Amino acid sequence: MGFAYGMAMPPAALSPSSAPRPVAVELVALTKRYAQGQPAVDSIDLRIASGSYCCLLGPSGCGKSTTLRMIAGHETVSSGDVLLEDRNITDLPAAARGTAMMFQSFALFPHLTALDNVAFSLKMKGAPKAERQAKAQDLLERVAMGHLAQRKPGELSGGQQQRVALARALITQPKVLLLDEPLSALDPFLRIQMRAELRRWQKELGLTFIHVTHSQEEAMALADTMVVMNHGLIEQVGSPHEVYNKPATEFIARFMGGHNVLQTPAGKIAVRNDHMRIAADGDGIAATVTDVEYQGTYVLLGLDAENADGRTGVSVMLPESVFADRPYALGENVHLSWAAPHAHALAA
Ligand code: ADP
Ligand code: MG
Repeated sequence: MGFAYGMAMPPAALSPSSAPRPVAVELVALTKRYAQGQPAVDSIDLRIASGSYCCLLGPSGCGKSTTLRMIAGHETVSSGDVLLEDRNITDLPAAARGTAMMFQSFALFPHLTALDNVAFSLKMKGAPKAERQAKAQDLLERVAMGHLAQRKPGELSGGQQQRVALARALITQPKVLLLDEPLSALDPFLRIQMRAELRRWQKELGLTFIHVTHSQEEAMALADTMVVMNHGLIEQVGSPHEVYNKPATEFIARFMGGHNVLQTPAGKIAVRNDHMRIAADGDGIAATVTDVEYQGTYVLLGLDAENADGRTGVSVMLPESVFADRPYALGENVHLSWAAPHAHALAA
């Protein structure tokens, strides 16, 4: 494809006036083959800025977890390299890398207190009891959990468990925290609370977080940099604003949602559904209203439109007040258009 891979730096860091943030993690032609055929991770290049919140995003099976596990040292690399602060860690054991992992639903030991959960990895390393308990207590204080150190996970709320899991990951003093779908098993309400808290802790600690998710909403809410993967390849790297406003490919426009992919005489484009203009007549493509869905702040219209290469489904998001002034009815024939700057060309 015709665009650059591996541009993990946010745009501010690329401008000549500001010094680039140092790179925490660099992946160089990183590849994982489980079997014959297309690799699960196919020679990806990526640089993740130090102190940033990076989300690896993509549909199930695209290679996110494999990438994260190769960074963590939980999966061998078929070829390529993983660098952490310029040190090649590709062949180091997980515990010697300077990374730590936080798993789905936090994976705390239910029979251990918060303190013993946090101290666990130091115990495995043979640290004396007094030392590991003092360090664990200190970390629990840092995440505002010191007063609940003697509780077991079952006696803690979801948010409190997340903080214990964070303290447990931090006790090895990692440079990078790796999170594999940490919120996916939570109910929607808790998930939104927990992601706000993750974001806050990342900023407060100033650590590099690499967070795997299949939810574009979660990635947009959390990330400084989004890395969108598909079939073991990186399709786009950018801030949530860049990826949402300028999806590089048809896959990304469809995966991110909120976009219409249209074939015009000039080529394939993406237009956000809130940037579509709708009118009873005038310029633009002819369409018929097939669906009207009230969404509170917005009304979402579904339409069957006359595309350059045939009829296609299109959605239009109208502010509630605009729809109230001029409602559209099922079966109504309309015309759709958009301002030129709102049409983004998609790579073939
Ligand atoms: P994601 O986390 O994006 O859902 P994964 O990295 O888990 O994707 O998987 C990428 C691809 O590699 C998938 O096709 C998956 O079936 C395959 N895969 C993952 N782990 C293994 C394994 N241990 N052995 C064989 N194939 C695997
Ligand atoms: Mg996964």
